[in-house]
Amino acid sequence: LVPVMAPYASTIFSEMSALALRTNSVNLGQGFPDVEGPQFLVDLACEAIRGGQNQYAPRTGLPELRRAIADHQRRFYGLDVDPETEVLVTAGATEGIAAAILALVRPGDEVVTFEPYFDCYPPMVARAGGTLRTVPLRFPDHAVDEQALATAFSDRTRLVVLNTPHNPTGKVFTRDELRLIAELARRHDAWILTDEVYEHLVLDDTPHVPMATLPEAADRTLTMSSAGKTFSMTGWKVGWITGPAEGLAAVTSMKQWLTFTTSGPFQYAIAHGLAMDDAAYAVTADELRARRDQLLTGLADLGIRTNHPEATYFVLADLSPLGLDDALTGTTAFAEEHGVVGIPAASFVTGAEVEATAPLVRFAFCKREEIIAEGLRRLGAVL
Ligand code: GLN
Repeated sequence: LVPVMAPYASTIFSEMSALALRTNSVNLGQGFPDVEGPQFLVDLACEAIRGGQNQYAPRTGLPELRRAIADHQRRFYGLDVDPETEVLVTAGATEGIAAAILALVRPGDEVVTFEPYFDCYPPMVARAGGTLRTVPLRFPDHAVDEQALATAFSDRTRLVVLNTPHNPTGKVFTRDELRLIAELARRHDAWILTDEVYEHLVLDDTPHVPMATLPEAADRTLTMSSAGKTFSMTGWKVGWITGPAEGLAAVTSMKQWLTFTTSGPFQYAIAHGLAMDDAAYAVTADELRARRDQLLTGLADLGIRTNHPEATYFVLADLSPLGLDDALTGTTAFAEEHGVVGIPAASFVTGAEVEATAPLVRFAFCKREEIIAEGLRRLGAVL
């Protein structure tokens, strides 16, 4: 009785957090903030628990949260979403991705995505019986190669998985790039699943454009987001999907067999959180921008080449000047010797891109100033 393992064995994020703990390293790996989210949300969740909201929430989510999500989509993007049929609350974005892929991808179907990609796509697509077709976004500019994108589509394409702002490159897709993707999806009659969990963590001037705001994409786009990133509450695992009722019904039917429903008290708190004013939304991005700039400047001073993340928690850095030519095999020894952990970028790619990204490491800058300073000090000591 051999259990099914590869490619499902264990996520790189858990492995790298365990490595950081074991080696007492500065953990710039897994993307979670080391500061508390807003206290009023903690109070609201406690209030909900003490107030007895401790039984199953409705299958598609608490009505007040679904309404708050619809209000959010209208307020920030002018999108009209029906809270009854066009919103589904999920246990974080990861469950949303799993449920959507399991719902939409049939054996033999192809799924187009960019690489590097978020790590849960390959196992989910494989489990659904599909094949992943990847399009490289190459360091350090991560431009979309139109030809490569067009070639990735075929008459078997069923789904495009997009992530903007993009983890791990920090890229914000432009309207023109989104148009190109939408046009190809339309031509091949494919669904678009767009993960926009970093929508409020944009650090430069390139605006975040939701795929669903493109008229040519709206009727085939499922948009995901999550409270974890917007409110610095990654452990609460409250995410959501909005999109056409027909697609959402299919995803809901999958979600019900995975978790049935998402934790209620946290939904109650997030429903209130989404209504906070613009200034409160900007606080996290302002803090992150300072941490990004601290890390970028520090790495540049050490002669380490990086990309320029316009958003998210992450920067990609070429650590070959520090002797880390192959991060996939070298990260454990690097942590043991130097006490810093990042995520090898090669764990987010396939095929030829594994070699092309070998010396690249993803560092998370959603950490306190002194933690980033200590990480930089230890990296500097390697030279
Ligand atoms: N999104 C975060 C990251 O990329 C955490 C993901 C996870 O741990 N599953 O690091």
